[in-house]
Amino acid sequence: MKIKSKKAVNVIYRCRVCGYVYDPSQGDPVRGISPGVDFLDLPDGWRCPICKYTKKEFREIKL
Ligand SMILES: [Zn+2]
Repeated sequence: MKIKSKKAVNVIYRCRVCGYVYDPSQGDPVRGISPGVDFLDLPDGWRCPICKYTKKEFREIKL
């Protein structure tokens, strides 16, 4: 039995202002974001929990 990985690359998003990292596999439980929610699927009102900047300040990082 073969098991294929769902994702070829892991992608996280880092706030370029304060360095906070959003990891989709962890989500953001404190703010009601379940693990597995992609960064792009976060509500537009979501902001960096640390510095409160918007999603636009985040940069994609491929692991
Ligand atoms: Zn930040």
